[in-house]
Amino acid sequence: MKITDVTLTPVHTRRETGLVSPHVIVELATDEGLVGLGEMSDFGHIPPYMSPYVEGLEAALKETLVRRDPFDLARTEELVRQRHFGGSSASLVACSIDLALYDLQGKALGRPVYDLLGGKVRDRIPVCYPIFAMRNPEDVEQNLKRVADRLAEGHTMIRLYFGLNLDLDEAFLDGVRQRFGKQVQIKSLDAGGAPFNWQQAIQAIRRLRQYDFMLVESPCRRSGIEGMAEVRRQVDVPISEHVGSAADVLRLAQANAVDIINICLSSLGGIYLARPVFAVAQAVGVACLIGTTQELSIGTSGQAQLGAAMLNLDYPCDPVGPILYQDDVVRQRVRYEQGHLIVPSGPGLGMEIDRDLLHSLRRDLFADRIGW
Ligand code: MG
Repeated sequence: MKITDVTLTPVHTRRETGLVSPHVIVELATDEGLVGLGEMSDFGHIPPYMSPYVEGLEAALKETLVRRDPFDLARTEELVRQRHFGGSSASLVACSIDLALYDLQGKALGRPVYDLLGGKVRDRIPVCYPIFAMRNPEDVEQNLKRVADRLAEGHTMIRLYFGLNLDLDEAFLDGVRQRFGKQVQIKSLDAGGAPFNWQQAIQAIRRLRQYDFMLVESPCRRSGIEGMAEVRRQVDVPISEHVGSAADVLRLAQANAVDIINICLSSLGGIYLARPVFAVAQAVGVACLIGTTQELSIGTSGQAQLGAAMLNLDYPCDPVGPILYQDDVVRQRVRYEQGHLIVPSGPGLGMEIDRDLLHSLRRDLFADRIGW
């Protein structure tokens, strides 16, 4: 099987909050008629002036990928990484190609991707719904309503980005416990966007500890690994941090800075490079969870395929993009049941493009984002 063409389609999808997220959908055509699907998820984190020029990126990827065999995955991905397509978005680009190559392999074999990763050790993955950082008093009530709406749909677990305004955070957490009691579980408090040093992180965690959460993520990015280790020494709750490579896991473990690592395909560059991250974490006794950058269904299936096959997926995970987005580009979105992401079991990633949806969501990556 040989790749014959590469098509990139930029799309915009609306979130329930009114925000619009730009993505790029990847299609790798082959001489056997199969098409591999990948996704560069949520360029909303990247300023428009740093977003890739899609037509140029497509031409460069064509030059690299056409005539290559999708089963020659390791070398192909190495080439993509070496050429650093997408600049500051290079890991998003690499991840999208990795997903599309795995999708092609699975489709060619008639097997889901998890069968290429060791087989399925679970059918479903517990996931949590994100509550984004609160800035205004009215955010508290709106977010409590969101929790009630999700609870009605069977989602019993949430996570909270905290630390911009601890009074609002506390009012929200208090509201959760008053209204929903133990019906709602709080997976994590995430200070990734908060301006904490390690001393402030410890104070904040102690202040909110009574509300009962499983872990704290990214407690004090300002204070680095040593600061994180200090937080971990002084609080009685597990500490989690994102990693960009297997080497990051070693660094964090050697500094005694974490209990858990957050593994996200779009920052690691895909499934192939995520597997050694799970292996190193297991070797050094650090737990794993799968994070998110808010993927559409194609990217979420990638996370689900990986999560299905890893024995050491130890904590509830974060991929709920298809719940947050009102739009998607596939015929059947990934499914959620009772707070779990159901692992798609069709060939490859188990996703099929809906041409009409893809066409209707197509939008320049930069459109409407001036003044970001
Ligand atoms: Mg995080």
